[in-house]
Amino acid sequence: MPHLSIRDLDLNGKRVFIRVDFNVPLQKNEKGDMEITSDKRIKASLPTIQYALDHGAGVILASHLGRPKGKPNPEMSLKPVAARLQELLGRPVVMAPDCVGPEVEALKPAPGGVLLLENLRYHPEEEKNDSEFAKKLAALCDVYVNDAFGSAHRAHASTEGMVHFVSTAAAGLLMDDELKYLGMAVNNPARPCVAILGGAKVSDKIEVIQNLGKVVDRLLIGGAMAYTFLKAQGKPTGNSLVEADKVELAGRLLAELGGKLMLPVDHVVVSEIAAGAANEVVETIPEGKIGVDIGPQTIAAYAQVIAAAKTVIWNGPMGIFEKPPFDKGTVALAKAVANSGAVSVVGGGDSEKAIKAAGVTGKITHVSTGGGASLEFLAGIQLPGVAALNR
Ligand code: AMP
Repeated sequence: MPHLSIRDLDLNGKRVFIRVDFNVPLQKNEKGDMEITSDKRIKASLPTIQYALDHGAGVILASHLGRPKGKPNPEMSLKPVAARLQELLGRPVVMAPDCVGPEVEALKPAPGGVLLLENLRYHPEEEKNDSEFAKKLAALCDVYVNDAFGSAHRAHASTEGMVHFVSTAAAGLLMDDELKYLGMAVNNPARPCVAILGGAKVSDKIEVIQNLGKVVDRLLIGGAMAYTFLKAQGKPTGNSLVEADKVELAGRLLAELGGKLMLPVDHVVVSEIAAGAANEVVETIPEGKIGVDIGPQTIAAYAQVIAAAKTVIWNGPMGIFEKPPFDKGTVALAKAVANSGAVSVVGGGDSEKAIKAAGVTGKITHVSTGGGASLEFLAGIQLPGVAALNR
């Protein structure tokens, strides 16, 4: 059964619990207070929160933050988030002292009110998906909304458990968008559909390669992952990053996927990995050299495939893009994706950074907010948080 969206519900006068992803990066300032260094995740859930408020709901927000390992830790409190959210919403946000218990129950918001619960992971029961804890969370609300796509691959009390104890559960606007675009890319893509996969390891993306291999028309491989495949073809890889124990599997994937899978035909190589290190472009990686980016012929070949695509799915950089000039391949492909006019769905923090660096953010159809969750989705794995909504 497909899930409900918050748009399908009557929220008037209801108390709505929204599981958000407010796992923001924090840093201690000179005074010793924790400060938010990026409010991107808070902003990503604003449309859902605002929607609920505009439709007459009282809103309870809940999130984890960091890894407090089941006990209170002031450095991982959501208090700074409450302050920032209050500024962004332009209305008071009440910070709860905890996420369950009588003190929290006494703070349940009236319509128009916003209550932010304290870090869910202060309680070990959250990650254990404890049903008593889930029941207590569920008792706070009339309606449950999950907007935390980035946590949907975890079966925790706030993402899965509490759905068993609420009468109405739905996806928030952000979650809905994630499922719409990722779902479209995987289940019903406009063709030709091209996937670009890069990053450090084949082992992290085996299931993604296998699943997307069934769906897409072309699979473009870059990053260090490519060298394990080249090794499987018996080609020299020098000192490039190769997963020796995955060479055989790479060989099987090559055989399974046949001509769909494209590998780099030239490489930028260095003797040591450092920003600005002396480098050269080669077709065959010499002994002692390390591949750090795809070369110009590969960029041209991949860009040609991308230009003809109607759907592009992208996860992972084509090289060590953190160390310019080894970002060239990644940035060039970001531009090719943006200019292709294809529906483009990008996942993973690195690809998002590359899109920013290429200055093409507004030209990408959908940038996923969930790294791990989007990879599992692309691998065809049921996300527990989504399965719970579908139930
Ligand atoms: P992932 O998290 O698997 O998407 O991998 C991202 C990381 O892969 C980035 O930090 C890149 O620097 C790294 N990476 C990409 N290409 C290479 C390469 N040729 N050699 C080593 N690391 C790479």
